[in-house]
Amino acid sequence: MNTPMVQAQALSKTYTLRRASLFAAPQKVTAVDDISFSVAAGESFGLIGESGSGKTTVAKMLLKLEAPSAGTLAVDGQNLATQTTEQQHSYRRTVQAVLQDPYGALSPRLKVGSIIAEPLRAQGGMSAALARDRVREILQLVGLRPDCVNEYPHQFSGGQRQRIAIARAISVNPRLLVLDEPVSALDVSVRAQILNLLRDMQQQLGLTYLFIGHDLAVVRFMTSRVGVMYFGRLVEMGSASALLRRPRHPYTRRLVAIAAARPLIGQEGLGGELPNPLNPPSGCTFRTRCPYATQRCADEVPQLTGESPEHAVACHHHEEIAALVGDSQDYRLQSPIQIQKETT
Ligand code: SF4
Repeated sequence: MNTPMVQAQALSKTYTLRRASLFAAPQKVTAVDDISFSVAAGESFGLIGESGSGKTTVAKMLLKLEAPSAGTLAVDGQNLATQTTEQQHSYRRTVQAVLQDPYGALSPRLKVGSIIAEPLRAQGGMSAALARDRVREILQLVGLRPDCVNEYPHQFSGGQRQRIAIARAISVNPRLLVLDEPVSALDVSVRAQILNLLRDMQQQLGLTYLFIGHDLAVVRFMTSRVGVMYFGRLVEMGSASALLRRPRHPYTRRLVAIAAARPLIGQEGLGGELPNPLNPPSGCTFRTRCPYATQRCADEVPQLTGESPEHAVACHHHEEIAALVGDSQDYRLQSPIQIQKETT
């Protein structure tokens, strides 16, 4: 069996808050709670969920900005907790990130050439002339003029700045890109261009993507498998086409229904009472917002179990709910390309 590019096993991240007083016990907040998933090499895996669901904490652990509190996280078969110094050094090349805000991600004082050459220099062992050639080659690859190396980020549009951020990320030939809401800060009219660029690059360079997003149409366009996070847990996981077209978990059903109804507004107004992270509900954490909750939901944590080989759900009653409200939802999320055509 091939080694997955990413393998998370019972992964958790808990933060200890500052004591309210000298004698108070420290309080803990669990951002990621016992999740397991894997991403095959060359695959594009999406994580969706509202803000605060734990998606970005997973990304931070992959980027080694945070250490797991429990469980294991391995990339290309290498457990991140037991890497040697040499492995840590090469890991910075293997995994790169493209973040939401292209404005904040690029230093305004550096010229484009220096921004893209920065990771190459950090890696060492490349002459200045070779680095210059590599920068020009990458600029062409991301659809920018090779002679823009002497310009500053403020001279570019938002979409072009995201192209520069992508160029910087791929300059060191990474194998895994963590894409955290890479188009959500961009104008709708340029989103499709950046998404197409990312898709082309994945094919051309054989990259693996962990794609984090809240726009379900974008996630469906960009990924082949999706995990849905709620309150730090994975509540549904499966192929993007099956899961986003016929969701089974009540939370995913609501997310998808809202996204399908209002593709340009995004998802808000899920309704129900948001749990307090300092005092999470027992059993299923979605029960305070779920219209189907029963006593069993308060007593037992539902486990993510396969309802088919491509689709797993963490809900005690998903079969009864499907029988009750029907299993025939067929949400057709508008593709970002279609949305762009309608807005331009
Ligand atoms: Fe709703 Fe219960 Fe399913 Fe949780 S386990 S989503 S509360 S029905």
